[in-house]
Order: sequence, then structure tokens, then C-alpha cells
Amino acid sequence: MSQLDTAWPAGRDVPDVEKLIRQTREQEQQPVCAYIYDLVALRERAHRCVNSLPDECKLFYAVKANPDPQLIASLLPIVKGFEAASIGEIRTIRGVSGDVPIIFGGPGKKDAEIEEALERDVMLIHAESLHEVQRIGWIAERRQQRVSILLRINLRRTLPEASITMSGRPTQFGIDEIQVPEAIRLVQSLPFVQLEGFHMHSLSNNLDARLHAQMVATYLQCVQGWMQEYALSIRYLNAGGGFGISYTEPERRFEWNDFMEELHQVWEDYHIPGIQLIFEPGRYIVAHCGYYATEVIDLKTNHDQHYAIVRGGTHHFRLPVSWQHNQPFEVIAVDDWPYPFPRTEWRQTTITIAGELCTPKDVLAHEVDVEQLRIGDILLFHIAGAYGWTISHHDFLSHPHPHFYYINGT
Ligand SMILES: *Cc1c(COP(=O)(O)O)cnc(C)c1O
Repeated sequence: MSQLDTAWPAGRDVPDVEKLIRQTREQEQQPVCAYIYDLVALRERAHRCVNSLPDECKLFYAVKANPDPQLIASLLPIVKGFEAASIGEIRTIRGVSGDVPIIFGGPGKKDAEIEEALERDVMLIHAESLHEVQRIGWIAERRQQRVSILLRINLRRTLPEASITMSGRPTQFGIDEIQVPEAIRLVQSLPFVQLEGFHMHSLSNNLDARLHAQMVATYLQCVQGWMQEYALSIRYLNAGGGFGISYTEPERRFEWNDFMEELHQVWEDYHIPGIQLIFEPGRYIVAHCGYYATEVIDLKTNHDQHYAIVRGGTHHFRLPVSWQHNQPFEVIAVDDWPYPFPRTEWRQTTITIAGELCTPKDVLAHEVDVEQLRIGDILLFHIAGAYGWTISHHDFLSHPHPHFYYINGT
């Protein structure tokens, strides 16, 4: 078994997952290809995150990391609410709960989305531009319905380095910090729009927990400055998500306990009375609860390189190819062999794991070592719960979709 990020808060052990795969393999007459979500581990992790936050800090789950309704339902009693980035996500959340708080964000909101979001009673809308503020105001006035917004700001200052940055540099996200005065004046001129605070989601997959807390300190200082300068009374600072997951270097993981230690200090030092601090992580909450299991269909050697071909691939699980990393996995040995001819078996071999698509880009791991591998064994990919199925091009080549199984405890 490979060295995985199994230290807290990373989820439970794999035996339950393996047991489930072996059971379903006996039932299915087709090669194994499935996502498995461990909802017990998910709830445990979410609980521990929520319970360690300072008072007045609220955790929302960013649904785009994995919009599976069973995950949303599992998190419902634990988190304060959900962050949605489209009307589709809002509908999914409302399908699980009629009244859980929803924050609606994302650039490029359509009028019909804003309209339906108001109908579906979202708690807050993140306004991403001045034009969007005006459209929200126009729709709210037409409906004679008051709407609470946060202004999403793209800061002009140095922020920690991470895999993906949305702020501190030109991007399509949020309102430029230099337009803050104009944005505040605009909101104040709109009778049906209430400015409830600010939203800053600056990076994704940040692995430096202490720096993350320092970034929150920067946010708090900005907000304090704007409150004083414009005599604002606000209720929320949404500090976004972006807590990282280390897929390939367990020793570099985001240390939640360090984050909490630093955050408690930051929250004390820069406390703004009456303000709730919101976090809206996606990846960090769900990544470890998901597994992608896929059966080895073929083993072949081509130009001296060894390839394992699996049932499935990047059309189900695009994350590793999109991030250019080798997804961690383990081999589940399957002893059954239905054919009357010999089984190919490799020992201590360096292999590339490719999928069933007709493109050389369909690779889940490149030149990785396996102790032993046979045709018919199953590869179990870990850390597949976030940005896995949902970001993948499911219908390319029209192969069947994977199964979805859930471990829900008793
Ligand atoms: C994607 C997104 C998140 C979640 O990001 P993670 O990196 O998955 O934690 C939170 N807030 C906004 C605005 C987002 O776009």
C-alpha cells in the first residue's frame, strides 16, 4: 500500500471500501468501475473541522467540489450551509433541504438565475462586478424583495502561493480592490440591496495552514478599514475556501491544527465585534471520502514501457491528468480468473496506468511502481472525492458511467 495522507483529518481506513468492492464484484457481471463514498468518514471529518473553529466562525460547504446529493445530505446537519455557484447547484441543495442557508456565488450569473435564487430564498449573493450589483438591485426592486449581498473583492496585495490563485493578480473574479469605494456607493444607492459584508476567495489548494490564517488576518484588516472609511455596519466576512490537499506529498499536507491555532490568535487580534467569519471549503471537506475503483483489463508492454489498461479513466476521473500528478492508489488483488489461458502477472514493475479512451492523454498515473499486478486485479484510487467525477467529460467515447456506492454506517 502506498504512503498516503492518512493522518487526521483524513478519513478512515480502507478495509470497508475493499469489502464493498469485493461484494459488488461478485454481484456485477461486468469489470469493476465505481466511485465509493465513505459518508461515515465524511461526517467525522466535517464534525472535527466545525468543532475546532473559533466562536462566530461558520463553515459552509462549496458544493462544486462534489454536488452528490448524498454528500450534501450527510453534511446537512453538520455545516451551517452551502455555497452554490449556479442555479443547478441551488436546485440540488434545495432538493435536499428547503431551508438550509445557501450562499450564491460565481461570475456570470444570469438574470434568470438571480431571479430563481431569490425565489428559492438564498441567504446571500456574492456580487462579482458592479454591473452584477446593478442587475441584482434591478431584479430585487422589480420583485419588491430585499436581497442581502457580499461584495467579492479581488485584493491588490501579495497573497500566499497556491496551486490556483483567483486574487492578488488580474482574474475574472470579483471586484478590483480599487473599485471598492464605487461599489459601496452603488450598493448604498439601491433601495432593495443590503450590503452585509465582503467575500474574498483568493486561492485554491493552499497547503500552508499558517499562511492561510495570516491571509484571513489581511482580510480582517481590509474589512476593518472599509468599515471605518465608509461608516459601514456589516455582518459577514466570507474568507472563502482553498484549504489544500496534498495528493502526492503527504508530508506537505495542510495542517488543520496549525490553522486552528493561528486562526484563534488572528481572530483574537483582529476581532471585529458583531461579525461572523465564514469559510466555504470544498476540496478539503470531501476529497478524502471518495475512492475510484477500476479493474485492470489488460497489461501490455509497448516500446519497452509497461501499461496497465483499466475499465474507466480520465472521463470518470479527470483530476490527475488535469493537475499533472500521479493519483495515489493501491492494488486490490482478485484471485478469480475466468479464462482458459494463462494470466499475465507483473512483479516489481514500473507501469503507466491508462484508461479505455482512444487518446494518449487518458492516464491516471505515469511510471509508478507496483509490487505485483495481474489482469483482473482492481486499482483503488484514493483522494477522489473532490473535483473527480464532477469535472470529468463523462460521455466522451460513450462508455458506460461508473457505479456509485456509499458507505453509510449502521
Ligand atoms: C471553488 C470555490 C470554493 C471552494 O474551493 P476549494 O478549493 O474546493 O476549497 C469556495 N468559494 C468559491 C467562491 C469558489 O469558487
